[in-house]
Amino acid sequence: MSTESKWPSVAIIAADVQSGKITATELVKQALQTIEDKKEYQAVIATTADRALERAKEIDEQIASGSNVGKLAGVPFIAKDNFLVFGSETTAASNILKGFDAPYQSTAIEKLESEGAICVAKANLDAFGHGGSTENSDFFTTKNPHDTERVPGGSSGGSAVAVVLDMVPFALGTDTGGSSRQPASFSGCVGYKPTYGLISRSGVIAMASSTDTIGTLARTVEDVAYVVDVMAGRDPLDSTTIDRDEQSYQVSNAASLKGKKVGVIKEYMGEGVDPGVKQAIEASLEVLKKAGAEIVPVSLPSLEYSLGVYYIVVPAEISSNLSRYDGQRYGYSDADANNLDTSYTSSRTTGFGAEAKRRIMTGAYVLSSGYYDAYYNKAQTVRTKLIQEFNAVLEDVDFLAGPTAPTTAFKIGQNTNDPLQMYLADVMTVGASLVGIPALVVPAGKAAGLPVGLQLMTKQKADRMLLSFGAAAQSAISKEISSKQSKEIET
Ligand code: GLN
Repeated sequence: MSTESKWPSVAIIAADVQSGKITATELVKQALQTIEDKKEYQAVIATTADRALERAKEIDEQIASGSNVGKLAGVPFIAKDNFLVFGSETTAASNILKGFDAPYQSTAIEKLESEGAICVAKANLDAFGHGGSTENSDFFTTKNPHDTERVPGGSSGGSAVAVVLDMVPFALGTDTGGSSRQPASFSGCVGYKPTYGLISRSGVIAMASSTDTIGTLARTVEDVAYVVDVMAGRDPLDSTTIDRDEQSYQVSNAASLKGKKVGVIKEYMGEGVDPGVKQAIEASLEVLKKAGAEIVPVSLPSLEYSLGVYYIVVPAEISSNLSRYDGQRYGYSDADANNLDTSYTSSRTTGFGAEAKRRIMTGAYVLSSGYYDAYYNKAQTVRTKLIQEFNAVLEDVDFLAGPTAPTTAFKIGQNTNDPLQMYLADVMTVGASLVGIPALVVPAGKAAGLPVGLQLMTKQKADRMLLSFGAAAQSAISKEISSKQSKEIET
C-alpha cells in the first residue's frame, strides 16, 4: 500500500476540472478503475457507473460551454449504501432491502451533486449500520487495507477503505455510535461526526433517530471541512436539522494550537486500553503540547455507563425504525406466504440478519410496559446526566481528547460469536453520540503496524472550531511522525 495519495485535495480537483485541466469523465473513469483494481478488499457493494459517466459527460459539456459547475466540479465520491442514491439499488447491506431502488435521493447527496460532485459507488456496511466491523453485512466482509485478515472497522468500513485505497478523494458514512470515527481509526483516515442535526438525515436509512448523523471520511481534515461546508444546514425534510454557521466550515488558515486547552478523558486512558494505542495517543498529545496546547486531565464519571445506555436507547429506536420493513411495501417479500401474518413473519425472518433481530428483540423488550421504567427510562435519565457532565467539562476546556477505540483493528471472525465483545469496541465513541456533540478522528500513527486514530470532541455547534483545530492537529502530528520515520531511516 502506498502512503502517497494519487488524489490532490478536493478543492484542487474541483478547480482543475473547472479550468479544463482534467475532465470529470477522466476522474470518474479513474475512480471506477481503482474500484475494479482493488475489488479483493470488498469495499463496494455496487457501482453507479452508468449514471456517474452520464453526469460526468453533462458536467464536462457545461464547463465547455462556459458554466461554473460548482465547488465540487467533477469530484467523484462513494456513499455508504444506507444513503438513498440513484443509479443502483439501496440495500443498507441487508437482504430485506435487496432490489430496492431509491425513489428520491438523500438531501446530502443532492447538495453534493448540486455543486458538481459525482457518486460513483455504494460502500459496504454492517447491515443497517449495526456493528463495528462490516462483518454484519448480509453480503460480505470488507478487508482492512493494512492487513486483509483484519476488519476495517464499521459500520462505515467500506467508506473508510474506499478512501484509504484511493478509490475516491472522499466518502460518506453515517455515525450513530461511532461508525465513521472507528473505521477511520482502524483503517487510517480522517472520520468526522458532526453535531447532531448539522447535516440532514433525510433520505438516509434510519438506525437510531436520536443519535444518527452523517459522517464524512477523507484523507485530510481540510477535505472533510470542504465537503461539510456543502452539506451543512437546515433542511425542511428533516425537522431535527439546525442552522449552519454563517461563516464557511472550510479551513482557510490552519488554527494555531497555542493556548488551546485540551482535556484528556481519564476514563478513556485507563484499564482495557491496548498499550500500543495508549502510547500512540500519548505521543500525539505530546505533539499538541509541544505546539503550545495546554493538556489537562479531565474526568467524566458517568461515561462508565455510556455503553449500557447506548445499547438500551439505540435498540429501542431500532426496533421502532425497523418495523417499517414488513415485506409489504418494498424490499424482500416472501412470495409463498398465503396470508398477511405469515407474510410479515416469513419476510422478516428471512430478510433480517441475526444482529438486526437481536436489536429488534432487545429494543422491544426495553420498551415493553413491564420494563420500560427499569431500562428505557433509566437509560434516558443517565443520558441526561452524561449531557450535563460533558457540558460542564466543556465550559472549562476547549476540546476533549482520547483514543477512538480501545484496540486497533481486530481479526476477522474474532468477535463474531460474542456480541458483547463486539459492543465493547464502541465504548469510546458512543459518549459523543448520546450527547450530540461533534467529534473528529485524525490519524495518530500506528501500533504494531496498524493505524490508531486520535479522537477530538467539542461543544455542540462548535464544528467549525473543531475542524480548524483538527486540521492543525493532523498536520502537526503527521509532521512529527514523518520526521521520526526519516530519523529512523538515517540511523
Ligand atoms: N458500532 C456501533 C453499533 O453497533 C455504532 C454503529 C453506528 O454508528 N452506526 O451500534
